[in-house]
Amino acid sequence: MSTSVKERICTIECPECEFDFSLEAPSKGEVIACPDCQLNLLVTGVTGETVDVELTETDAEDWGQ
Ligand SMILES: [Zn+2]
Repeated sequence: MSTSVKERICTIECPECEFDFSLEAPSKGEVIACPDCQLNLLVTGVTGETVDVELTETDAEDWGQ
């Protein structure tokens, strides 16, 4: 019983909208987009099936202060 490639599905919770979604084998440093609110999330750590993400700074919009 050996699988050369084991797909690891990880669960991610968006820190902005709390939407739960799954991603296949994310890696630290990867930037992903929340499928719900479309914000960019930076993967800061992967532990087993738990993925830590944080919002990335976006300056494409919201120039005002
Ligand atoms: Zn979101």
